[in-house]
Amino acid sequence: EFKKPFEKACNDYEGKLTKIKKEKHELVKQHGMVWGQVSWGELFEKIEREYRTFQLSMCEYQIKVNESKTKKGTDLLQNHIKHCSDQEPACFLQECLNTTAKLKKFTEKLIPELQSMNIHSSEVGQDEEKKLLCSLWNQLKMALQLEQKEDPGNKQAGYNMHQLQGNKQYSTEKAGTLFKKSDGLRKVWQKRKCTISNGYLTISHSMPNCSPAKLNLLTCQVKPNTDDKKCFDLVSHNRTYRFLAEDEQDCVAWMSTLSNSKEAALNVAFNRAQGREERSREALTRAIIEEVRGMPGNRECCDCLAPDPMWVSINLGILICIECSGIHREMGVHISCIQSLSLDKLATSELLLARNIGNSGFNDIMEANLSSFSLKPTVHKDMAFRKNFIISKYVEKKYAKRSPAVQCSSLLEAVKKKDIFSLLQAYAENVDLNEPVLTPLQERGETVLHLAVLLSDRTSLHIVDFLVQNSGSLAKKTAEGNTPLHYCCSHNKPECVKLLLKAKANITLTNKAGETALDVARRMGHPLCEELLLQAQSNQFNPHVHVQYEWWLGRDDMCESDEDLDKKVRS
Ligand SMILES: [Zn+2]
Repeated sequence: EFKKPFEKACNDYEGKLTKIKKEKHELVKQHGMVWGQVSWGELFEKIEREYRTFQLSMCEYQIKVNESKTKKGTDLLQNHIKHCSDQEPACFLQECLNTTAKLKKFTEKLIPELQSMNIHSSEVGQDEEKKLLCSLWNQLKMALQLEQKEDPGNKQAGYNMHQLQGNKQYSTEKAGTLFKKSDGLRKVWQKRKCTISNGYLTISHSMPNCSPAKLNLLTCQVKPNTDDKKCFDLVSHNRTYRFLAEDEQDCVAWMSTLSNSKEAALNVAFNRAQGREERSREALTRAIIEEVRGMPGNRECCDCLAPDPMWVSINLGILICIECSGIHREMGVHISCIQSLSLDKLATSELLLARNIGNSGFNDIMEANLSSFSLKPTVHKDMAFRKNFIISKYVEKKYAKRSPAVQCSSLLEAVKKKDIFSLLQAYAENVDLNEPVLTPLQERGETVLHLAVLLSDRTSLHIVDFLVQNSGSLAKKTAEGNTPLHYCCSHNKPECVKLLLKAKANITLTNKAGETALDVARRMGHPLCEELLLQAQSNQFNPHVHVQYEWWLGRDDMCESDEDLDKKVRS
């Protein structure tokens, strides 16, 4: 949840950057100048403001994540204490009381232990981290406010985040002597031992007892002095330090090392954040796969009952063995799109249907009319028998359940109720899922997929995905010429955009107003949709995309049942 404003800030930043660049280009055109002659000062100022706003949001996001971690720890403890204090009234038998007394004693002993454990293990680290983040947040916030108050004529002295890069022949660490101009009225040069290391500049004090000043270079700016080439300034959020080096060359070395060290620290910070996100996504994908493997019927191949099937049909949501997967591939991806659970690096978007259909649910419909179990191939049957069965089952849909004719209205009901098996039933009976529905929600000519997009949320992406992959209606237009992709963009459904782009929806189609989906996203101001379409336009869209979806993994169920248990104990 906390991520949303952060992601928005990311997108805003990217968007504004592009906008500023465009504005600048316009300006250049108007004045008939050559691009290279333009002064970069103004451009940088705009960019750096946006960049700082972006950093601020990142900071806020990390603080919130940190807070939620700490909260979890205390919540657990409080729940435990509450649980224990609730025990007494619930137990009216003497025996219960005795047990409770014992439990209470034990708990009393446990509480300080738990508390100290809590404090020592996680909270210290998190508090420390939070303090650091808060101070960085304050610094950034102040820098932003400072700039707002700043006299426009005095911009040169300002704090500047984007700066010239340091000369790479120098490293990121340096130690030596510099002269620092004193703060007081006398303004004398004081000799100081200085060290640059790990993104910090340490300035030792003349008194050996005083602790040195430590400046975080992430929030500082190095500026050369135009009057004296042996001098440079280090601008922090609240003061400017002026340094004097031994000679010009030494001055260049100090400035370059400061810039390099700052850049390295920035990279480390960003890589760490990215790595964390990557790892948590991989962990989520693994957890979903485990959940899928535990679903009814998924311990055996959906077609031949071979144990431990490790191949998934992305569009049908079933697990099959390696032998059967070969035949599925032969049928083509329009029938069954196969990936390995262990060999392919799956993304969460590829597991939406597997998490919601599963072998048992699938065969309840697709093998309902199987007259004899002996028609099903077993591990020992030859390849021809296996192939014959699979083609009958998937291409001819020979064994599928026949229900009273599926009505269009019932399809709308299925979408509304997020009923994946009604959609599968319609698919099994070869109902034309790309026909316009009789009761459109907004425009005539809407297909079931248009409706699914309109009604989609975090809990219904699998419905959208089933229709995206199996209805053949990606290019279907309403009376106004809007494709499902247009609908995503006019109603701000970026998660649906991902599923449509993944299925290679045509992004160049226009509606009656002549707009592509990208045009619609821009007009409506939906930056997430716009960003995804821009990626697709430049062939940068990664089809192994992750989606925001309510996965209801085992852990979630457990939490719920714990609460139920608590209620029962209390009542
Ligand atoms: Zn099999």
